[in-house]
Amino acid sequence: MEIIEKAPAKINLCLDVLHKREDGYHEMEMVMTSVDLADRIALKTLEEDLIVIHSTNGFLPLDQRNHAYKAAKLLKDTYHIKKGVDISIEKKIPIAAGLAGGSSDAAATLRGLNRLWHLNLSNEELVLLGEQIGSDVPYCIYGGTAYATGRGEKIQQIDAPPQCWVVLVKPKKGISTWTVFENLSFEQLVHPETEKMLLAIQEKDFLQMVCNTGNALETASAIKQPDIKRIKKKMIQFGADAALMSGSGPTVYALCKTYSKAQRVYNGLKGFCNEVYLVRTLK
Ligand code: ATP
Repeated sequence: MEIIEKAPAKINLCLDVLHKREDGYHEMEMVMTSVDLADRIALKTLEEDLIVIHSTNGFLPLDQRNHAYKAAKLLKDTYHIKKGVDISIEKKIPIAAGLAGGSSDAAATLRGLNRLWHLNLSNEELVLLGEQIGSDVPYCIYGGTAYATGRGEKIQQIDAPPQCWVVLVKPKKGISTWTVFENLSFEQLVHPETEKMLLAIQEKDFLQMVCNTGNALETASAIKQPDIKRIKKKMIQFGADAALMSGSGPTVYALCKTYSKAQRVYNGLKGFCNEVYLVRTLK
């Protein structure tokens, strides 16, 4: 038997860094939503006690460094499962992009193995496993739209935002999340108005939503990757209703109310960058 799970990418409508905690993590406040760009995870039980990973993307590690491998290993160790699993990852989400691709693969692996091995674990139990793999994994267990706090692992599911088109652009040169956080200057952070974003989503007010997108990491990431600013400027020139960096970058996304606007932004940016995607927010 084969189980298939979709692993969608996310964008941050708001991302705020509140302070550095004593345990070394940063206290975050985020609003994230899933988009219809997804990896596809296929899971098959192996009688041998092995975790085998295949991927369509030659750049992904296929060993214990892969987040899907970590998820399978953690589940096997925690619940003393002696069977193995063959995990096939059809990679569609750009890697190290700020779109939580690896976290979403880990979450999809946890959800899928829960079904394949009839473990009957609740989402809350999967979240407890997920947070041991990465801060974005708990959100990815649920997907959809969420308000996240703590280091990102405390999830409150909220209504979906007004549906719109999203153009994702990933600049060629990546940025390491670690260096962005390491060099953060708290005095210079520009904090988004998360309360207003939550209200805009609740009231399904597209205009207020686009006015209140914000990412406190953007300035720091844009110093390391100047294309972030250039892409944002072009998106606005081509008619985007909002343009923002997702996560710690470097992917920049445009929100557009109409398909024609989104197409204009997509076509305009296609001539500037290789990795451009036209997708929708998920309901
Ligand atoms: P986040 O937004 O959660 O920080 P990201 O989109 O910035 O994630 P990922 O695509 O998850 O970044 O990749 C981060 C690192 O994880 C890369 O160095 C990549 O090699 C590694 N990695 C391990 N497993 C996976 C996977 N299944 N998919 C993508 N990256 C993976």
